Amino acid sequence: MHEYDRISDEVLCALGAAVGDDNLQLFEPMSQHTTFQIGGPADVVVTPTDADAVVRALDVCAIAGAPVMVVGNGSDLLVGDRGIRGVVVLLRDRFADIAVDGTRIRAAAGALLHDVALAAADAELSGLEPLWGIPATVGGACHMNAGAYDACTADVLESVRAYVPGPVLSDGTRARGSVRTFAVSELAMGYRKSRIHDEGLIVLEATFALAPGNGRMIRVEMDDYQRRREEKQPLDMASAGSTFKRPEGYFAGKLIMDAGLRGASVGAAQVSEKHCGFVVNTGGATAADVNALIEHVRDEVRAQFGVELEPEVKRIGEF
Ligand SMILES: Cc1cc2nc3c(=O)[nH]c(=O)nc-3n(C[C@H](O)[C@H](O)[C@H](O)COP(=O)(O)OP(=O)(O)OC[C@H]3O[C@@H](n4cnc5c(N)ncnc54)[C@H](O)[C@@H]3O)c2cc1C
Repeated sequence: MHEYDRISDEVLCALGAAVGDDNLQLFEPMSQHTTFQIGGPADVVVTPTDADAVVRALDVCAIAGAPVMVVGNGSDLLVGDRGIRGVVVLLRDRFADIAVDGTRIRAAAGALLHDVALAAADAELSGLEPLWGIPATVGGACHMNAGAYDACTADVLESVRAYVPGPVLSDGTRARGSVRTFAVSELAMGYRKSRIHDEGLIVLEATFALAPGNGRMIRVEMDDYQRRREEKQPLDMASAGSTFKRPEGYFAGKLIMDAGLRGASVGAAQVSEKHCGFVVNTGGATAADVNALIEHVRDEVRAQFGVELEPEVKRIGEF
């Protein structure tokens, strides 16, 4: 088994060559890259600006056996207070080209779903309206099959170009990966799951297939979805959206409310007063606060209703 110690100078040089030295930061606080505004420093953050640079960076990590994590908009992450050991490949606004081609839209993994939906509205293309309020990158949305209002990413996704990690070698490092295009039918996308998640594929680009529509009507619908979100969700507070997945036959927020946990808090982490399905950071919460609150909520709901709440938020790094 390959023992990871720390990112060596040799690997740092190779990463700098892969993405450009200006696109590499050491000990970068992850609180700046998560919507929870929580998270200690990552050893190394690289922000590639094109697909080739993403592939080069991932191959450097694979060959060196360095732990690597891809982060998009950080809107589904709780990063531990001690941060992340290894390399974070941050795919966001530096890798965010969007191109409209007839009724299709191609978008780089780091583009925000919000911006793709605005481009669609400008081009009078319909299909993304229910999803536009999700603060996801295209890569994060495909990974999770993000969805809202009975719609999900898979409904409008045509294909994804992705990095496929190479096989694990006998010393625990990996061979170089390859790049392949997958039709949506090959991606086994279900409720908050996909083959992208299961096999650790890294989305480089996605193509959405949309329907011709009326630009004005599309915007009216988008505004309506946004209004519904603003009414129900604590959008003025830092969070990672719904903290728990929807348990079969129940709504997590209702169970939490019925358990008497509205406003329950640990440190500066709080069960939202507005929507009990959200844990919010009221200012200066630590990952340990949020984690303890999540476990408290799970214990109470299990004890009172016998229902197991599974976190939707991904807890990563060192706590
Ligand atoms: C206010 C608020 C409202 C929300 N509403 C919704 C909602 O209505 N519906 C919903 O589904 N979610 C919702 N979310 C949660 C979140 O926005 C989604 O889960 C989203 O898909 C996460 O995307 P991201 O780019 O932020 O990914 P991140 O949080 O950065 O990462 C999440 C996972 O995706 C992986 N990932 C990121 N980029 C890539 C890539 N290029 N290739 C492969 N894997 C990648 C990461 O490794 C990680 O495992 C909400 C969050 C907030 C804060």
